Amino acid sequence: MSPDTIRLATGHEMPLIGFGLWKIPSNQKAESVYNAIKIGYRLFDGAYDYQNEKEAGEGIRRAINEGIVTREDVFVTTKLWNNYHRREHALVMAKAQNDAWGLGYIDLYLIHFPIATSYIHPESLNYPSWWMDHEHKIVTPRAEVPIHETWQAIEEAVDAGIVRSIGISNAQAQMLYDIQTYARHPISSLQIDHHPYLVQQDLVLLSQEAKIALTAYSSFGPQSFLELPPAFRARAKDVASLFDVEVVKKAAAAHQKTAAQVLLRWATQRNIAVIPKSNNPRRLQENLEVGASSFDLTKDEIDGITALDRGLRFNDPGFYLQQPLRIFA
Ligand code: NAD
Repeated sequence: MSPDTIRLATGHEMPLIGFGLWKIPSNQKAESVYNAIKIGYRLFDGAYDYQNEKEAGEGIRRAINEGIVTREDVFVTTKLWNNYHRREHALVMAKAQNDAWGLGYIDLYLIHFPIATSYIHPESLNYPSWWMDHEHKIVTPRAEVPIHETWQAIEEAVDAGIVRSIGISNAQAQMLYDIQTYARHPISSLQIDHHPYLVQQDLVLLSQEAKIALTAYSSFGPQSFLELPPAFRARAKDVASLFDVEVVKKAAAAHQKTAAQVLLRWATQRNIAVIPKSNNPRRLQENLEVGASSFDLTKDEIDGITALDRGLRFNDPGFYLQQPLRIFA
């Protein structure tokens, strides 16, 4: 196995470093994906929720057509949104999302959040994240769809050759243990909010023991949420930036790396994939240079950074939605 990939339970290899597609400005989507491939990115992390699968697929197809990569060189992750958990909807969405990317298959398909909300036709509204109105109230209430129905639907997408591996995001131990009792296709990956302010060490251990490949999102902690509207920003705005905390700055100076690289390497050195996003070419390049042959943090540095843990979750719909969905309660 290449040191810069993680082997999934299905036997497919997932790159350790990827490019996250959330919040990419719409006029730059295809171009930024194409440029990221030219720089060396091979993993792209999308979602129905990000509303840019078609453009991301265009960027990848352009790189394939120009002979920069083959389809097999690239790894596409995308996610099923909460309104489509019902079996028939999940299957329709898997097919539609696969068509939007236009690459023949999806490498990894994740249930985005372990919560079902009621169905709404994907094209019936100008989609705002979580289908919120202007007061941050969700217009689609919770729906009675058990997660096993959704899991079995995405297993059917594997059987149909639409997706190669499946997994879940924002799930915790009870959900993973439950899915394991009936899964025909393994839980290949778990994607979680993981940074030094939210380490979730037991969940990391559980996943690694169960051979569920972990992907960390929001590796820079509060940074990502500072860019969002006030309700989302509230928990992040008064927290010290992870780029400025002493233990991170000291490790960066010791290895002549940036604080961002230290935060990413803190994850990749523990075999946790990262998917940072930047619209800045220099940062895009530096975020890629955190693989196995880049530099190694000492055990003390890793432990020191891990000790920053405060259980601080920024991506918490139990907090930022007006009618909270207390998924992490
Ligand atoms: P991120 O890790 O992309 O960080 C975003 C912030 O950090 C941005 O402000 C960016 O400009 C800045 N940044 C990036 N590189 C930098 C560098 N080298 N130096 C300084 N600043 C830098 O955070 P994110 O967008 O929350 O997460 C990354 C990806 O994870 C998303 O694009 C998405 O694909 C995925 N994600 C998934 C979920 C989920 O529910 N599964 C939730 C959030 C994000």
